[in-house]
Amino acid sequence: MDSTSRYGTQTVESVNHAEDGLKDKCGVFGIFGHTQASYLTYLGLYALQHRGEESAGIVVSDGRRMASHRGMGHVQDVFDGNLLESLAGDRAIGHVRYSTTGSSNLKNAQPILVDYSRGEVAIAHNGNLVNADLLRAELEAYGSIFQTTTDSEIIIHLMAKPSLRNVEEGVLDALSRVKGAYSLVLMTNNMLIAARDPQGFRPLWLGRVGGAYVVSSETCAFDIMEAEPLREIEPGEVVVITSAGLRSVRLESETPRVAQCIFEHVYFSRPDSIIFGENVHVVRQRFGRQLAKEQPCEADIVIPVPDSGNSAAAGFSIESGIPLESGIIRNHYVGRTFIQPSQGIRDFKVRVKFNFVKEVLKGKRVVVVDDSIVRGTTSRVRVKSLRQAGAKEVHLRISCPPHRFPCAYGIDFPTREELIANRYTSEEIRKYFDCDSIGYLSLEGMLSCVRTPKDFCTACWNGDYPIPFEGVDKYHAEKIGVRATTSGGKCS
Ligand code: SF4
Repeated sequence: MDSTSRYGTQTVESVNHAEDGLKDKCGVFGIFGHTQASYLTYLGLYALQHRGEESAGIVVSDGRRMASHRGMGHVQDVFDGNLLESLAGDRAIGHVRYSTTGSSNLKNAQPILVDYSRGEVAIAHNGNLVNADLLRAELEAYGSIFQTTTDSEIIIHLMAKPSLRNVEEGVLDALSRVKGAYSLVLMTNNMLIAARDPQGFRPLWLGRVGGAYVVSSETCAFDIMEAEPLREIEPGEVVVITSAGLRSVRLESETPRVAQCIFEHVYFSRPDSIIFGENVHVVRQRFGRQLAKEQPCEADIVIPVPDSGNSAAAGFSIESGIPLESGIIRNHYVGRTFIQPSQGIRDFKVRVKFNFVKEVLKGKRVVVVDDSIVRGTTSRVRVKSLRQAGAKEVHLRISCPPHRFPCAYGIDFPTREELIANRYTSEEIRKYFDCDSIGYLSLEGMLSCVRTPKDFCTACWNGDYPIPFEGVDKYHAEKIGVRATTSGGKCS
């Protein structure tokens, strides 16, 4: 239903975990050698739901042919017992999606399954290719016909070059041509391939369940099926799994710098997951402790913006000695879309998602710990709601630095102009929010909370893009705010 419906209702998008305008990218899962492959993939996707709520899909193979099912919506709405029963086979890949390239429709849902000259191949991809448009134009000029508008399909078309002798050679050749972020799983009838780009932007794990190998964006998918996490697939590593076992191949890179997305720790990944060598909750709690040291505050209670602010708020409370309370309750049952009343309840989008606990907030000086601020509209409404609920003072503390640059590697930030910290000083933002104080974690402070700070991307805070802009699509270059031909990775 859209805003022109004859019933006079409006549909609003409602499930962003963090601040306004910031949305999930994708989650991938793969399994090879298990009789219940489709069911375990379903469980894996269920655990990865937070990485994409727009569509879900599974492709399964019995070693001879593939079957697939994809649908719009949450994993539990897309699949049922009968469907999973019909997806028979001992190897499978799955995907949950939020679109950052390609529009939101079933055609673009993944895994993408095609039958090409070497047989069936399916691919599921998390990340964003920054030279996809250029490659697509080149491929189309040579006669390629695309089924989707996603960047992921480009990898399959690159693999199909007649001079490449087999699937593995095709994958390696294709990955040598794409730039940007990819943690992907690719399946043929006799092979599962898992690959992570040389910068390692997005997480990707390898594990074992029974005699089967499993691959997942995050370890939380392993926990649900009692799989044993073996190790992270390394930046620039391609893992090839067949009935004969597992092999690892290294990708060559023009840009050897490892640049894992630290925003996965700040916001995206689940707190019970281990990514980039550390547990997300533990790292978030360190962010909160460091934030309390850098931005101390006289207050009565610390409250998180749930859920992604929970761990950092706990850290802030431990470090500051200010008691932790639950002053904001999140409604977990809000679906992908929500019918908005035509006669406006003001700030409906925020109110439907969060409730404010008057009994906790009344007369209190409150420190509110949130993970990030993007456009600022939601934070403003939240401060107002906290005051209406009786808070005497509202102090915002943000567990990462101010976002001034968009992401080119799979996180759907708005343009530079729309990022509030790109246009206003902290004091101007404080006044706009009408809060008593605002304080961000510093970049140095954030990096001091992870074990290998030099191995992280920080481009959305300091404009230091790890991949040179040469050969980057016009779309990405314009979004970031540089000319596509500019060399070097620094954006001022
Ligand atoms: S720009 Fe920011 S969100 Fe994007 S990969 Fe780098 S750290 Fe992550």
